[in-house]
This record gives sequence, C-alpha cells and structure tokens, in this order.
Amino acid sequence: MASLRLRDLPALHRVLQHPEVQALLAEYPQALVHDALRAELEGLRRRLQAGEAVAAELADPSALAKSAREGLGWLSRPALRGVINATGVVVHTNLGRAPLARTAAQAAADAAARYVDLEFDLEEGRRGSRQDHLEPLLCRLTGAESALVVNNNAAAVFLVLATLARGREVVLSRGELVEIGGSFRIPDVMAESGALLREVGTTNRTHLRDYVEAVGPETAALLRVHPSNFRQIGFTARVNGDELAKAARAAGVLFLEDLGSGALLPVGDEPTVGSVLESGADLLTMSGDKLVGGPQAGIILGRRDLVERLRKAPLYRALRPDKMTVAALAETVRLYLRGEEMAVPVYAMLAAQPHALRRRAQALRRRLRGLGVDSALVPLYGRAGGGALPESPLPSYGVALAHDSPDDLHHRMRLGDPPVIGRIEEDRLVLDVRTVLAHQEDALARAVATAWAARPEEG
Ligand SMILES: *Cc1c(COP(=O)(O)O)cnc(C)c1O
Repeated sequence: MASLRLRDLPALHRVLQHPEVQALLAEYPQALVHDALRAELEGLRRRLQAGEAVAAELADPSALAKSAREGLGWLSRPALRGVINATGVVVHTNLGRAPLARTAAQAAADAAARYVDLEFDLEEGRRGSRQDHLEPLLCRLTGAESALVVNNNAAAVFLVLATLARGREVVLSRGELVEIGGSFRIPDVMAESGALLREVGTTNRTHLRDYVEAVGPETAALLRVHPSNFRQIGFTARVNGDELAKAARAAGVLFLEDLGSGALLPVGDEPTVGSVLESGADLLTMSGDKLVGGPQAGIILGRRDLVERLRKAPLYRALRPDKMTVAALAETVRLYLRGEEMAVPVYAMLAAQPHALRRRAQALRRRLRGLGVDSALVPLYGRAGGGALPESPLPSYGVALAHDSPDDLHHRMRLGDPPVIGRIEEDRLVLDVRTVLAHQEDALARAVATAWAARPEEG
C-alpha cells in the first residue's frame, strides 16, 4: 500500500473537477462543500506533518468526496432523532417528555405550516388573544375560574412570583425548598423573581402555626411546592392545602401551589388539579408535558383577578406560548374533555395494566426469537417520571436480553436505527414495553436484532 507524501496532496481546484465532487456540489451549497473538502485535506496534511503514514488512496478525489459527504451529513439529518423509549420511564425529560397524541401532533404541524387565527377574532375582525383558544377548555376541564398558559412551568412559577410577590415575602416550608432536575431550584427561582423567601418549619416537619406566625405586613403569599421527585418518610409533617388556604384567607394573603406534574385525572396518589383548586388555592401552576401528556407548557389556573394581572404583566410577553403549543395543548385538553384520554400516550401508558403489558412483552419476546435474539420475559417496575409518583413504581413487563456484555449491546442499540434506549438492571439489559409506542414494536425488534447480530466474536 503506497504511502501518501505531502507534495502529493491535491489542490482544492483539482479535486473540484472530479465527478463525485461535482455531484456533491449539486446537492449542497458550494461554500460548505469547499469547507468540507478543505477540512479533509487539512486533516491529511496534519497527519503527514506529524509523521504519520497515510494511505495514498485517502487523497483520491473520490475518497475525499466520500469523507466530505460524511462531513456534510449534519446538513441533511434532522436535529432530533426519533428514539424508542424502552426505559419504562413514561415522562422522560431527557427523551423529550410527553409524546403527543396523534391529533395533537397533527394540530401543531397544521398550525406550524400556515397562517392561523392565533390572535385574531374572526367574528369581529380585530385583534384577539392566543389565550382564548385555551382558557375555556382548561376551565371547563378543571373547574378553574381562569387560566393562562406560558412557555413552561418554571416560567409559570416565575411569572406568578415576580408579578404578585416582588419585593414582598413568600412563606415556604423548609421541607419544600426543593431542586427539580438540575437547574430548577425553588430558592433560586424565588430570588430571581424578586420575591423574598421566608423559610418556616424544619426539614422534616412544618406545622400550620409555623406559617401563621411568619405572616406579617410584608407577606404576599403562602407557597406550597410539590416535592416532586423526592419523598420524606419517618417523623414528618406537611400542612394540607385546605388548611393553608384557610390560614391564607384569614391573614389576607395569597395561597399559591406549584403542583409540578399536575394530574388532570386521577393517577396513583397524585392530587388532581380539580381537587387542589377545590381545596382553595388562589393560583396553581403545573407543566403541560408531564402527567397532562401535552406539549411543553406552563399552565396557571385560578382566580380571575390574579390571572388578569399576570396577563398584563410585561414579563408575560417574554413567556407566552407559540402557535404550535397553543394548537397541541388545546387538542390534548379536548381529548380529555371528550373522554378520549386513552388517545393521550402518557395517560394510556400510565393506565396500562400489567396483564396487557405481559402480553405485549410475550409478543416482543416471540418476535425477537424469530429474529435470532434470546430473551426472557421479566416482570419490571416502570416509573411515571417527571417528578410524579416517585414512590409508586408501575408494575410492568418486558424482556431481559440474554447477552453477556449488556453494556456493549446497549451501546450498539443506542447507535442503531432507530436508537433504542433500555435499562441495565442486575447486569441485564431490560426493555420495558410500557413506554414503547404500539407502532414501534416491529422497529424495536428489528433494531435489537441488528445490534445483537453485530455481537463481537468471543475469544
Ligand atoms: C417539573 C417541575 C417544575 C418545572 O416545570 P417545567 O415544566 O419543567 O418548567 C416546577 N415545579 C415542580 C414542582 C416541578 O415538578
């Protein structure tokens, strides 16, 4: 095999004449093709200068065209790749949280590609509000007096505190000074909003009197925060929402509740949004893409006069949802209202019964066996995720792949097409069928079989 010499490196203008490079130029903008080829040539030059032996073929224009094409791949690949979630974690933040209902995704796509009456009153022929597409639906579903939707729940909490409590005190239990997934920390959000944190109680126990004694002329609100992904056990005490609501009313301050996940219908022991509102919260905040199963959004529900102030706050403009979110969330809420909540994937996955999951896991196992993959049917525990129900594992079923290097297999599956994300449990790679969408079952089996067949020879 001939070695490349520095002086044999072709000049860019020579490479450009080659038919395969011409084909690249027909597909991609000229400047990007030139950049990609220059980068290839520069890479070879550096290797030669470092004294490395480089095969002469690598400097052939057709080889350069091939590597340049690979280098340009990012231009033709979508930014986000569809993956198969076989982790059993339903609301998986790293995997984009809620997969939308088919009709909700369609509504977002339709809104995206055309003009819509987002802020236009067709009847009157004048400006309308984007919130008018959501508020009536959300109020009807939850019993709330008024509703406002913003970009996400962090934005909702921030808007509420900045608008209603800036420069004033907000009373919060020390047991609820929580961090939710890395960057969202209640004390930090509160500091950013300009509200002054007044901690009460202790880490494990906070009583009604702790709140009551803390209320003074500087108090704007009592805040209750869903502890999300952590639970306290043992010698603990947390004050109920209805007691806090009563105390807040008696003291003439607001009672705010950050629900985090917020379940529209009963799911495990999560309080439903309706019941929280009934217990007397003046405003509550929650995510649109956790248990609700809709697009990323922050949903604020509660008193009309307060929602009106939020809507008029200058900050709202920076946090408002876009037309795709409005379309997808409205459609998701409509599905609940029509009693078609099983069309919302997150809801259906949470409601899936173990016996049905067992059948799906058995079918997957049979499919895999047909493709030459050994696996065993196994009972598993999935999780709701998104900070909901951390102590209520979801009894589920799946398959354990009988492979002696599960990490290698998992790695190959993640790099496959489509990528498959499972879970390593007791040194086995397991795939939980709960979070696999029905139409993905075939693709899942084939992707696993491909990764399995690439199994390196054992020595
Ligand atoms: C998830 C969560 C948030 C943040 O919501 P995002 O929609 O991710 O911005 C805030 N508060 C609680 C209690 C949460 O669980």
